[in-house]
Amino acid sequence: MLKVKKDALSRMIELAQRDYPYETCGLMLGKSHRGVREVYEVFPTPNANKERKHDRYEIDPKDYMRAEDYALKKGLEIVGVYHSHPEHPDRPSEFDRVRAFPDLSYIIFSVKDGKVVSYRSWELVGDRFEEERIEVTD
Ligand SMILES: [Zn+2]
Repeated sequence: MLKVKKDALSRMIELAQRDYPYETCGLMLGKSHRGVREVYEVFPTPNANKERKHDRYEIDPKDYMRAEDYALKKGLEIVGVYHSHPEHPDRPSEFDRVRAFPDLSYIIFSVKDGKVVSYRSWELVGDRFEEERIEVTD
C-alpha cells in the first residue's frame, strides 16, 4: 500500500502535465515499513530517454544517486518511481515491468490532452505488476 502526501501528489500531477506530450519521471522519497510506503516529497529527474520520450522514460543512474544522497541527508529513502503515460492508460507497459525493482511503488499518471485523467500505483509481486491501494494524506 502507498500513502502519498497531498502536496507530493499535486506536484507529480503538475509535472506530468508540464512535460506532456512527453513522459515525465522522478523518484518518490519517504519512509517504508511493513509493506506500507509513505511518500513525503518527490525528486523530479530528467527523462534520460532521448529517442522515445513520448512513450518511454529512463532515470540516469547519476540522478538516482543524487536522489539517494538527498534522501539520506533528510533521513528519508527512495520508496518509488513515478512517471506519466501521455495518451495512454495508467497501466504499466512491458518495458516498465522488465525494468522495475521489487520493494518500490510505481505510480503511473495517464495524461490526455495535457491533463492528468487518472493514476494508479503498482508494485512488483514476483515478476508481475499488481495494483496497490493509494491513500492520500495531509
Ligand atoms: Zn510506462
